[in-house]
Amino acid sequence: SNQSNRISVSDSSVSRAVTDNMNRLLRFDGRVVVVTGAGGGLGKAYALLFAGRGASVVVNDLGGNPHGDGKDARAADKVVEEIRNQGGKAVANYDSVTNGENIIKTALDNFGRVDVLVNNAGILRDRSFAKMTDSDWDLIQQVHLQGAFKTTRAAWEHFRNQKYGRIINTASTAGVLGNFGQANYAAAKAGLIGFSNTLSKEGAKFNIHTNTIVPVAGSRLTEGIIPPDLHAGFRPDLIAPVVAWLCHENCDENGVIIETAAGYAMKYVWERSKGAFLRTKLTEDVEIETVRDKWGEIADMTESERPTNINEAIGKFAEALEKLESGN
Ligand code: NAD
Repeated sequence: SNQSNRISVSDSSVSRAVTDNMNRLLRFDGRVVVVTGAGGGLGKAYALLFAGRGASVVVNDLGGNPHGDGKDARAADKVVEEIRNQGGKAVANYDSVTNGENIIKTALDNFGRVDVLVNNAGILRDRSFAKMTDSDWDLIQQVHLQGAFKTTRAAWEHFRNQKYGRIINTASTAGVLGNFGQANYAAAKAGLIGFSNTLSKEGAKFNIHTNTIVPVAGSRLTEGIIPPDLHAGFRPDLIAPVVAWLCHENCDENGVIIETAAGYAMKYVWERSKGAFLRTKLTEDVEIETVRDKWGEIADMTESERPTNINEAIGKFAEALEKLESGN
C-alpha cells in the first residue's frame, strides 16, 4: 500500500479485487486436524480455531488432572459440543496419547483421513531434582515424549502416502533454557525439539512439515505461575493463529522453533561460537592447559554462527583438520 499503488487503484473493480484478496481467509476445509489434549487450555483454543475455519477436528483429551491422575470424558465432550454448536465438525477421543494409534484411528474412522497433528497434551510433575522419583520422571516422559511419538508414528504413513502433513510439537521455555523444579519436564520438552527437527528433515520430501512451538499461556498448568491479573494478556487463543498458520497448506516453514505468547511471536535457533584451535599441528595432542588458556576464545559468541543441519555442523571439524594439515 505505497503511494503509487494507492493512486493506480482508481478503478473501483480493481480496488475491490485487491481488498478481497487481502481479506481472503486462510481456510482448512476438507482438512482433518487432530489436536491432543484439546479439552482445555491451548488445545481447546486450537481446536476451536481449526473448526471455525472449516476443518474436521478430532478433540482428544484423557481428562485427568494437571498431574496426570484420573480421567474424564467430559473434557473432550464439552469442546466437541461447543464446536458443533457453532456449526463446526468435531469428534471426541478419550485415549491417552500413549495410545496414540487409537487417536489417529478416530480421525480415519470418522473423517477418512488425517492432515494435521498438533501434539499438545501435557501434564506437570514439578519437583526439585533432589526429590524427583522414578514415577515423576517416567510419567512426564511418557505423556510428552512417548505420546508425541505414538500419535506421530500412527499418522506418518498417511502423511507420506498422501504427500501432505503438518505436525506441531509443543516444547516449552523450560525445555530450551531449563527451569528450577522441572528436570523431568525440561528433558521431555527438549527431547521434543530433537524429535521435531529430525522429522522436519525426514518429512520434507513428502511435503510433511514439522515445527515446534514454545508457548506461554494462562491455563490450569500455569495457575500458580502466571498471576491471575496477567491471564487476559496470556490468553491461549492468542497463540492458536500462530499454530494454525504453521499448519496451513500455504505455509512453507519446516523445522523451526517458534516462541509465542501475548500476541507476540519469535523464532529460536541454535547458535555456536566461532571456536578455537586446541593445537597447531596434526601431530600434536590436545593439552588440558591449552583448553584452559583458550577457554575465552572457545566461549566467545561475538562471531557466532547458526548451523541448521548435521553436515554444516560437522563440516567445521573437517575444515579444521584441513587447516592443520596445510599448516595455516
Ligand atoms: P492444560 O492442562 O490446560 O491442557 C493440557 C490438556 O492435556 C488437558 O486438557 C489434559 O487433560 C490433557 N492431557 C494430559 N495428559 C493427557 C494424556 N496422557 N492424553 C491425552 N490428553 C492428556 O495445559 P496447557 O497449558 O494448555 O498445556 C498444553 C501444552 O502446552 C502442554 O504440552 C504444556 O506442557 C505446553 N506448555 C504450556 C505452557 C503454558 O504456559 N501454559 C508453556 C509451555 C508449554
